[in-house]
Amino acid sequence: MSNTPKIQDDSAAAPVAVRAAWLADGNGACFAPGVLVLRGRTVVAVGSPESVGVPGGAVTWVDASDSAVMPALVNAHTHLDLTLVPRIPEPKHFFQWLGGVRSARLSMTADDVRQSVIAGVQRLDAGGVAAVGDIAGTHALQASLAACADVGLEGCVFEEVFGMGPRVPACLAAMEALTPAADGGHAPGIRRGVQPHAPYSSDRRVFEAALRSGLPVSTHLAESADERRFLGDGSGPFRDLLESFGLWDGTFAAGARHPIDWMAERLRAASMGPGGRQTRVLCAHLNDIDDQALALLATLPIDVAYCPRASEFFGHAGHRYRAMRAAGVNVCLGTDSALNLDTPDRITTLDDLRLLMRRDQLSLADALEMATVAGARALGLDASRWDFSLSPLAGVIAVQLGEHHAPADFGKTSTAPRWICRPEVS
Ligand SMILES: [Zn+2]
Repeated sequence: MSNTPKIQDDSAAAPVAVRAAWLADGNGACFAPGVLVLRGRTVVAVGSPESVGVPGGAVTWVDASDSAVMPALVNAHTHLDLTLVPRIPEPKHFFQWLGGVRSARLSMTADDVRQSVIAGVQRLDAGGVAAVGDIAGTHALQASLAACADVGLEGCVFEEVFGMGPRVPACLAAMEALTPAADGGHAPGIRRGVQPHAPYSSDRRVFEAALRSGLPVSTHLAESADERRFLGDGSGPFRDLLESFGLWDGTFAAGARHPIDWMAERLRAASMGPGGRQTRVLCAHLNDIDDQALALLATLPIDVAYCPRASEFFGHAGHRYRAMRAAGVNVCLGTDSALNLDTPDRITTLDDLRLLMRRDQLSLADALEMATVAGARALGLDASRWDFSLSPLAGVIAVQLGEHHAPADFGKTSTAPRWICRPEVS
């Protein structure tokens, strides 16, 4: 924003004091009204106007008294390379949608992919996002790492692989060539990871190789009842889809009670034997969770990226994110791709946070925790950079409130955020 003061990440920087209708962070702090005093990105004081008082020295005041001020957001699951893919006609049918995305991807040139990723990064920026879990097709991996680094985005770019049937040997060979050393050489703060697309599109051996690679791992899991059916007995629409793509060769091993049981077995297998490794996996969606799966999930090294608007887009209701949180599972927020969103100009969990407050009466503190510190933890980042402890913040945004002044009414707002303090570009 042209009227945003330039904030240096320097403890010697002159203090900037932000006056807000209310201030809230990812750890439940909330001051209404509030004042936040920063030196660079470091919080030097925060609280009510009375408790903070008038900071000494040459203070630059930023008036955000019509706005909520909060840490910049984390979007733990998106697909930046799909940003400029045209919306799929009749998209409510997941299998048709998947096929449409697949053919759109195949028709994109390298430059199309790069432009799509750059447009996605711009929409993250327009949404006040400071850290991302991006799922990149192989041809988008380097473009995404570069585009994220260019704007100081932290997080992880997960290279998405599809390793099923006849593709398994080549996919395993590529996976086994990955080492933790592959997670380097980029800007600090943005790492490379790997994402087997889903249990119905990547073989169990591909998952286990990914989990042994030492790189951050993510996937789509328990997205629908059809997935549970496929993992149970190898039948249903996913079987039909694999056959139509020529990816069914009969080597798939069914027999899992539920996708969570299936993933538990992958985690166990990857931790055993030579080269075995205990690792965490960031799993998107988990729309289809029964009580038994929930109890097992709570024992596993799984972080959950819930994508509320994407879930609604595909007709899923009754997500059990609150039960997961109550059971101790780290549940963060993602948007999934721009194709599923109702905000053409931005890709941000700010709008998912507001949806949960509006639809489920989720508290601001819980929603903001999911959209900030839970996402930071899931991406392996320092979560203290998303709360108002006296440490450097990843970024700070302001959101104009209009007639909805109270923190509890934040879900009724729909305005785009503006930056008070952007991520640092190294
Ligand atoms: Zn996804």
